[in-house]
Amino acid sequence: MISRLGSKFPCPLCSSSDSPVHDTIERLWRHFDFFQFRTYLHCRVPRIKCEVCGVKQVKVPWARKSSGFTLLMDSLIVLMAQNMPIKTVADLVGEHDTRIWRVLDYYIIVARSAEDFSEIRSVGVDETSRSKGHNYLSVFVDLESSKVMHVCEGRDSTAITSFKSNYEAHKGSAANISNFCCDMSPAYIAGVEDNFHNASITYDKFHVMKLMNEAVDQVRREEHAHNASLKYTRYIWLRNPENLTVSQKKELGSLKDMRLKTSRAYDIRLSLRDFWNLKDPDLAQAYLKKLYFWATHSRLTPVIKTAKTFKRHWNGILNYINTRIDNGILEGLNSLIQSAKDSARGFRTTKNFIITIYLRLVKLQFNLPT
Ligand SMILES: [Zn+2]
Repeated sequence: MISRLGSKFPCPLCSSSDSPVHDTIERLWRHFDFFQFRTYLHCRVPRIKCEVCGVKQVKVPWARKSSGFTLLMDSLIVLMAQNMPIKTVADLVGEHDTRIWRVLDYYIIVARSAEDFSEIRSVGVDETSRSKGHNYLSVFVDLESSKVMHVCEGRDSTAITSFKSNYEAHKGSAANISNFCCDMSPAYIAGVEDNFHNASITYDKFHVMKLMNEAVDQVRREEHAHNASLKYTRYIWLRNPENLTVSQKKELGSLKDMRLKTSRAYDIRLSLRDFWNLKDPDLAQAYLKKLYFWATHSRLTPVIKTAKTFKRHWNGILNYINTRIDNGILEGLNSLIQSAKDSARGFRTTKNFIITIYLRLVKLQFNLPT
């Protein structure tokens, strides 16, 4: 940028051209290291006096507004952050991590603004946590492309409204979503019903199975209190029979000869597992009714309780037979999210955790300066 005395510049705010220079100020930007030497770009940058906006610093072509890094340094930071923990990036470039997070935040917002959600019809949502028991996040995924669409704090109905406004900001229209997949949390259900009037809910089959597994385990624990043969058998009842070792199969066989309550609960669980393979909706409806009757007449309190929960969520469970959607992809993402958490370690804000999730899990197109 060559500027002679008396040069005029456009205003960075209103872009009215030809504003006279008011003064110049010394600015510096961190650039790539030159070998082992820290490298800074120094410049006396003109400030113009715009008639509308007042005194403003002109735009420079090598850096973003108010950034202390050159554009090329930004690129380097984003590229490194995609591949290593943020703490390592901060240490490598010798800058405080808050400056690194700020760069990432900027480029993620820019990259996400280009996302187009207009073709998305089926959305899955699930919760994940930064640490056990608190700081819940909701993660929304396009179930067709498996792409993460939105991550936000909380797991209540405001998470759904947060998703909705973000979705609409990316060319989505609430009326276009025909399927939502979620667990049976009343907050998600209410959020979907209030915000996506054309969407039908399919309850995630993994969550449905999990409730039944918990019931089986509860029956086992109660029975174990007065039956020592159930000691160390927890996983035998929770794992699918085909995944058991030879000796576990043997043990299951002899346990099943004992006419245990746990064994009855286990059989109901196995029947529920077969439900998901049914193709015909009428047949599936009849099957689920039979299963419900069996469970509610089992005299096993935890199983009865779970069956009644299913009854209250009947249509959303049956919907699976038509929609065949589940949140399996979110289960898989969850382990990636947990490793993203390692990358974000030491930076104890949820915002930074969310930045890391976008960085690691969303294949964003970063339009980096080169
Ligand atoms: Zn102006």
